[in-house]
Amino acid sequence: VTAPTWVAEARGSLFDVDNLPYAIFSVGGAPPRVGIRIGDRVLDLARAASRSRPDLVGLLETATLNPLMAAGHDTWSDVRGWAMSLLQDEDQRTWVQPLLAEITDVQVKMPFDVADYVDFYASIDHATNVGKILRPTAQPLMPNWRYMPVGYHGRAGTVLPSGSVVSRPSGQQRPPGSDAPSFGPTLKLDIEAEVGFVVGSPTRLGRMAPTDSFSKHIFGVVGLNDWSARDIQAWEYVPLGPFLGKSFATTIAVWVTPLAALAAAAVPLPGQRPGPLPHLRVTEPAGYDIDLEVEINGVVVSRPSFRDMYWSPSQMFTHMTSNGASARTGDLLGSGTVSGPHRDQLGSLIELTWGGQEPINVGTQQRAYLEDGDSVVLRLTAPGQISRIGFGDVSGVVRARPDIC
Ligand code: MN
Repeated sequence: VTAPTWVAEARGSLFDVDNLPYAIFSVGGAPPRVGIRIGDRVLDLARAASRSRPDLVGLLETATLNPLMAAGHDTWSDVRGWAMSLLQDEDQRTWVQPLLAEITDVQVKMPFDVADYVDFYASIDHATNVGKILRPTAQPLMPNWRYMPVGYHGRAGTVLPSGSVVSRPSGQQRPPGSDAPSFGPTLKLDIEAEVGFVVGSPTRLGRMAPTDSFSKHIFGVVGLNDWSARDIQAWEYVPLGPFLGKSFATTIAVWVTPLAALAAAAVPLPGQRPGPLPHLRVTEPAGYDIDLEVEINGVVVSRPSFRDMYWSPSQMFTHMTSNGASARTGDLLGSGTVSGPHRDQLGSLIELTWGGQEPINVGTQQRAYLEDGDSVVLRLTAPGQISRIGFGDVSGVVRARPDIC
């Protein structure tokens, strides 16, 4: 970052000129297009390009970030540098300022078309806690866990933008002590506070993407809530893993934070024992110092840190392609629940309430799991080059399941 922005109210905010996340927005009935956030305003990048960078109009005058994401790392740097200069250069101010809209005046939508969605399990504290809760008599960590970032394929078509309503899913559950399952609305609706990584440049079928190619392929980062039905999950997941207990909804932020904005947030991993196999080795710093905040009904119930994650996102990406499977533009990689070693750093209710046995206080009420009408907001921040940078909120409200038609 070479100079401060002339958008004075943005200086020192979570959305200063060192951040500049992307969204698909529309204002005043105009077609949706690419915008970037500065302070509490949105710059219409498509209109800015039509005046000063006509070569970029095709990437920016679109209703999805995918064309920009597919254009590759050099183009991302070019667009980001150009956008930054528009907001720094006083000489451009007279024509750029009218292209800023108040954030309260714009509509935002799903920022990109999700191609494939995978979800990992990269927090050692989360994996250990869930192992103890679901398999109390066994070793909490499976033998593979310290050798690979364990993951599963999720459902891309049910990834929703922040603000979406989440209907309580139904499914099979077998309560403790009963022999046979029943079918009905989940009684154990949960959240998972995660960080999502969005693939821009695809990888080639048959080729593993090495860990040091991560920043070449990954366009950006979003907060992610992996809504989970624990009773459905517990009954269905052996031996093939999560399915309907997860696939009903995943919510992401509508603002995609460029990976480049996280340069100042790079931190070393906490340490891997045993050391990873050669193809999963990383050049440090490979971790990210991202703080998360979990809010239920307006009350902060947890503050996990992504710094505590055992596996790096670059290791997740390499593992995902290590069999030669290709990654496509729009692929979304969830990190797995971000949990830390302390009680106030747990990223799911199953951990915060220890399997529902120890309800937590949410204001004047208590919760074991989510009830209809509950609202959940995830907030993420990280060190930026100027001050802290903010991510877009990840919010959702639970509603009762509609009647079967
Ligand atoms: Mn998850």
